[in-house]
Amino acid sequence: MTVNLLGLTQKELAEFFVELGEKPFRAKQVMKWIHQLGVSDFNDMTDVAKSLRDKLTQLAVVAVPKLLNEQLSSDGTRKWLLELTPGNAIETVFIPEDDRGTLCVSSQVGCALACTFCSTGRQGFNRNLTTAEIIGQIWWAYKALGKNPKGERVISNVVLMGMGEPLLNFDAVINTLSILLDDMAYGLSRRRVTLSTSGVIPALQRLQEQMPVALAVSLHAPNDALRDILVPINQKYPLKQLMQACQSYVKAGPRDFITFEYVMLKDVNDSDKQARELIQLVKDIPCKFNLIPFNPFPGSGYETSTSQRIKSFKDILVQHGFIVTVRKTRGDDIDAACGQLAGKVIDKSRRHEKFMEIEND
Ligand code: SAH
Ligand code: SF4
Repeated sequence: MTVNLLGLTQKELAEFFVELGEKPFRAKQVMKWIHQLGVSDFNDMTDVAKSLRDKLTQLAVVAVPKLLNEQLSSDGTRKWLLELTPGNAIETVFIPEDDRGTLCVSSQVGCALACTFCSTGRQGFNRNLTTAEIIGQIWWAYKALGKNPKGERVISNVVLMGMGEPLLNFDAVINTLSILLDDMAYGLSRRRVTLSTSGVIPALQRLQEQMPVALAVSLHAPNDALRDILVPINQKYPLKQLMQACQSYVKAGPRDFITFEYVMLKDVNDSDKQARELIQLVKDIPCKFNLIPFNPFPGSGYETSTSQRIKSFKDILVQHGFIVTVRKTRGDDIDAACGQLAGKVIDKSRRHEKFMEIEND
């Protein structure tokens, strides 16, 4: 069986080379070729001995997802549609800003958690992505964007905020993080990699122990009654437990705060009273807020809060000393905004039959 080297961590790659009777340091060399130089053909890895290149050509591949489409928004946002297997495709988005460039990657095809305002959630769940498929998104984007005139990588930050719930694809995500943080690959600091979760608490605790990167938690409601509806996983892991898990994470994480994401849904979660309730909820946690104007999609049944309402909600939080950002909608013209990533999902969960800005510097 041929091994796909794209998704191997440095440790796994070193083990692979040892099995081949090679020196483990070859792993570093090959990682650099794959991830830093964007090379997928072993014959192009010129400082690797010819005999090893031949061996690799026989036993291994660097298999990247197939690029189906690339779109560029008028505001500079880019979106790539990548095919995994026939019928299944995922989307990856790059968002340029003045001081950083953020790549938003997907971790699953679809999502099983069925948050009611999320287009991905409405599509149901198909499958987890492999590490190679998650890294494949980053590989393509790095290759497409390269370096800026100062010689710095255009992508400075990566957020696991595309399709899917990263903590429900734990092992592949941990290996992805390991490659992202590896100096032989993407060399990002923990502060520049953010994982966004709707609050899968046991997995959050494992992340804290194994690979604490910056954390964003999708809160969206100030109490259990409302969150049970908007973010159904709340029925299993309610807010009290979630707040405790966040408190604990801050101590281990690379940043001294958690980012709480809060989607602004008209007449659902956007009143002044709810803002005050929210303040009470998070009072023991060092945090920042990222208010996300709801991005509509057909048949969602929700509307976006008015900008006046968002301002009033924000002001209450700010008056209580919180740092609050309101996420600008980017890539509107190419459907690249938060919660609009659709890709192509063949729903295997059949759930519908049963019921139912990031602070990286
Ligand atoms: N599953 C993870 C990460 C992917 S979703 C999570 O839920 O955190 C990334 C962010 O987009 C989450 O905060 C999510 O709540 C938000 N989101 C989903 N649908 C949205 C929509 N239609 N409009 C605005 N934000 C949305
Ligand atoms: Fe899944 Fe996140 Fe969408 Fe909820 S918001 S359905 S957890 S992708």
